[in-house]
Amino acid sequence: MKPELVIENLKVNVENKEILKGVDLTIKGGEVHAIMGPNGTGKSTLSMAVMGHPRYQITEGRISLNKEDVLEMSVDERSRNGLFLAMQYPQEVNGITNADFVRTALNKRREGSEISFMKFFQKFEKAVAELKMRDDLPHRYLNEGFSGGEKKRNEILQMKVLEPKIAILDEIDSGLDVDALRVVGENVSKMVNDNFGCLLITHYQRLLDYIKPDYVHVMIDGRIVKTGGPELIKKIDEEGYEWVRSELGIEFNEFDEKVILGNCAIKDQIME
Ligand code: ADP
Ligand code: MG
Repeated sequence: MKPELVIENLKVNVENKEILKGVDLTIKGGEVHAIMGPNGTGKSTLSMAVMGHPRYQITEGRISLNKEDVLEMSVDERSRNGLFLAMQYPQEVNGITNADFVRTALNKRREGSEISFMKFFQKFEKAVAELKMRDDLPHRYLNEGFSGGEKKRNEILQMKVLEPKIAILDEIDSGLDVDALRVVGENVSKMVNDNFGCLLITHYQRLLDYIKPDYVHVMIDGRIVKTGGPELIKKIDEEGYEWVRSELGIEFNEFDEKVILGNCAIKDQIME
């Protein structure tokens, strides 16, 4: 059975302020969805709520994975059931090596048939090579002292080894230079099949040259206000979000500026 994540009428508060105001989204195996939207609009909130971060309080709505209630699951159950989040700001964890971290997570989802040390390292090192990462990486502490780009690649490394069913990649492109973007894009693209679907949260077109989304959603003020195909990406890249607002009659607020693309530290580099 193809995996299926269904989000219905999701409303989420952060510190008693309503951030998500009713989000509906279904992601199935084999599908690539992209969510674009101005800063502060709730994209990361959606990813955190799906994974179960305790600060993100669900006030209404449902989330299910293969018809099972995700909101009833602890964070680790969500992960073991096949959800994965590549975080916008990955944490550094001193004292746990990268390899130990991923191996423990992998074994936790294979109870009774733990992967042998050798097999794990083959798989891990293959993924390291495919992501063109430095080979001392398995022995370094998780994300500690990694550059922004290395942290992002490290999220994808975990994803490749853990083989989730549905993954959310939150601004995996920020901090990556052009070459790294291509490597990451191609690696993610290769993973897409009937048993794997993903949601890309991104600001800009470039990543989506390598990972072709089937659906593009525009999120503004905590709602998905428009869904279309890849043609939306180009329009947003060129024109920002003003046209979506005027088309739909959404009022402006101070967060929402067209300069949003400038948020990616490497945008200038990419555009040159
Ligand atoms: P996006 O990812 O679209 O840029 P976020 O989901 O990060 O937006 O944030 C949406 C809104 O929620 C913002 O106004 C932000 O300040 C607020 N917010 C998000 N996370 C937190 C948090 N942990 N504590 C306080 N406010 C938060
Ligand atoms: Mg965000």
